[in-house]
Order: sequence, then structure tokens, then C-alpha cells
Amino acid sequence: MARVSFVHVYKRFDKVDVVRDINLEVKDQEFLVLVGPSGCGKSTCLRMIAGLEEPTAGEIYIGDMLVNGVEPKERNVAMVFQNYALYPHMNVFDNMAFSLKLRGVPRQEIKKRVQEAAEILEIAHLLNRKPKELSGGQRQRVALGRAIVRDAQVFLMDEPLSNLDAKLRVQMRAEIIKLHRRVQTTFVYVTHDQVEAMTMGDRIVVLHQGEIQQMGPPQELYDHPANMFVAGFIGSPA
Ligand code: ADP
Ligand code: MG
Repeated sequence: MARVSFVHVYKRFDKVDVVRDINLEVKDQEFLVLVGPSGCGKSTCLRMIAGLEEPTAGEIYIGDMLVNGVEPKERNVAMVFQNYALYPHMNVFDNMAFSLKLRGVPRQEIKKRVQEAAEILEIAHLLNRKPKELSGGQRQRVALGRAIVRDAQVFLMDEPLSNLDAKLRVQMRAEIIKLHRRVQTTFVYVTHDQVEAMTMGDRIVVLHQGEIQQMGPPQELYDHPANMFVAGFIGSPA
């Protein structure tokens, strides 16, 4: 079954179509990577799934529900941003618990979910710390933790590793893949880094100037690029 579908989706800003006729099905529990150069429309696609932008034309479905016009909080998705966006005055526990408190989840249930997520991410010993007392990698784990506790059907990640140094980035790639296996949820992961895309994705969607150039498993794109753009982009060194 498709967990997320785009049907002839367009997004126009200032008379320019930054997303053009996107047709896409993200399979249930798949790790799908949207990759392409800066400005090609990756974040816009992700934000339309989250409900932070509305398509100018076309339909987006989550499961079999048409979500055009549906509020972000009514969509069963969790988004992890590039800059983490942790609340600086709250400790790790409260950062992770915040969205659950807003939704009126009972205290005991919140404690259980935060504890479980913290154990998965190996940050259970950091629950009382403030974000400024954490390393970059630890902050990234807290940001992931906030998404996990929501128990969402779809995880949306917008360049979550781009603020980390190279060594940590490689380590966190493996952590996120492990997390995907563990939570068995659909991931839509955005990056401009073709190596990240090739090592993480079950399937990769290559975007250029708002249009899909090719989609398929990493090996297929590598062996049979659909055009010069894909060949050049996938084949370029890290
Ligand atoms: P990417 O994430 O691939 O770098 P984006 O989806 O952020 O690309 O942006 C695609 C294009 O749309 C860019 O040219 C960007 O400047 C433009 N854009 C994105 N958001 C807005 C907005 N809110 N208003 C006007 N233009 C925007
Ligand atoms: Mg972006």
C-alpha cells in the first residue's frame, strides 16, 4: 500500500513552478530519499506532506486520505528539521514530551513513551540536561526522539545531518537506518548529498528544477541513469 501519494502536484511561488507535476508513491515502511541540488524543490515537497505548504494544484494523500487543506496537526506525520529547533529553556525530557502534553496524552503514558524513545536513541542518561549542555550529535538524537514519541505513521526529515561534522554525519546515517528498522515506519528523507542518498535509501527520487528525473533503488540509478543530469549528479564525488 502507498503511505504517501503525490498526484500531479505543482507548487508555484511568485509565478514560478518550483515543483512541477510530481507523481510519487511512498510505500508503507519504505525509506525513501528525495535528493537533488539546492533549490530543486525538496523541502517544498516535504513541507507539503507535513501541511506546512499547500499544493497549487494536484492532490496529496496520506494512506487513502486526501490531505489537501488538512491542518498539520491533523496529519499523522512527524518532521525533523535541519536546525533541530529544540526549546532551549526546556530539558531533554520536556523537549520530547512537549507535543504529547499539547495533545493531552496522560502523564504516565508520556513518561513511558519518552523513556522508550530515549533508550532507543541512547540518551536516557541525558533527560535532565538542557540543549546547550549537549553535543551536536546528542541534540540531533533529541530531535529524532521528539519525532519518535509522536508515534507517527510518517517521518519527514529535512537534511537532519547537515549541521554535523563529517565523522558524526557518517555515524548518524547508520543510527537513522537502525532507527528506521526499529520503529518500522515510513521515512521520507531529504538531502542534497548523493552519497547520503545512495547509502541510506531503499529508493531514491532525483529532483532537478522541480521535476522528478528518475526514481528507483540506488543500484538501478547508478547502473542505468535515465539522463545526463542523473548520471552527473549520482556519479559526482562526495
Ligand atoms: P530545496 O529544499 O531543494 O533546496 P526548496 O524546496 O526549499 O528547495 O525551494 C525550491 C524553490 O522554491 C527555491 O527556488 C526557493 O527559493 C523557492 N521557495 C521556497 N519556499 C518559498 C517561499 N515560501 N516563497 C517563495 N519562494 C520559495
Ligand atoms: Mg531544503
